[in-house]
Amino acid sequence: MVNLFKSFLDFIYPPLCPVCGDNVESYGNLCSKCWAKFNWISNPKCFKCGYPFPADLDLGPTPLCPHCASGECELDFIRSACVYDDVSKNIMLPFKHASQLKYQTLMSRAMINCVRDLNLDVDIVMPVPLAYKRLFKRGYNQATLLARPIAKHFNADLDVDSVSREYRNDMGHKTTKQRRENVHGVFKVINKNKIAGKKILLVDDVMTSGATFYELNRVLRKAGASAVYAVSFCRVVHAI
Ligand SMILES: [Zn+2]
Ligand SMILES: [Zn+2]
Repeated sequence: MVNLFKSFLDFIYPPLCPVCGDNVESYGNLCSKCWAKFNWISNPKCFKCGYPFPADLDLGPTPLCPHCASGECELDFIRSACVYDDVSKNIMLPFKHASQLKYQTLMSRAMINCVRDLNLDVDIVMPVPLAYKRLFKRGYNQATLLARPIAKHFNADLDVDSVSREYRNDMGHKTTKQRRENVHGVFKVINKNKIAGKKILLVDDVMTSGATFYELNRVLRKAGASAVYAVSFCRVVHAI
């Protein structure tokens, strides 16, 4: 009966690729042509922060990028599904600013896939908080929309209110050092009891310099978090 209903529904509303509108097998999936256009991050990559290395390098099972080798990344793991480029930008920006929520499923599925091999044990899934001023202006936190299915996948609590964020001007087009300074002290843990002893997975749509994840990690550790991981849909890849 359920299958019959599903067939009926597929007949009335056939599942379509959210990017090009071609028919696909199930809702939220990309067609193979659109899938192939993304620069998905696979191995080899930095074992700790997920920075992608050139494909032809054989670096062993747990290679580290120079930042992680020098201990600069204090999160346990960071992963991103794909590289920030014209293709990922064309779904990430409309999703963030223009309520193009049809991309939610493909983005969150790709994010779940890119952390799968880490076999993470997660208590709390936390979308990177937005300042209230931005939240009210936009009407939704795009990171929360991505975090919801991820929390369900991990059977973990979705936490949207233990940490608040102060409003500051946009960080666009600044150096990594300036971004770190701009985000320093911006987050405040409101509910330490919910954080202490917990393993936390942070969720964001894009990772630019990592400054936001690093700063959240700092305050969450201070509040007693026992592990902090992060996942983003795409990441800006600078040469290192
Ligand atoms: Zn397509
Ligand atoms: Zn790294």
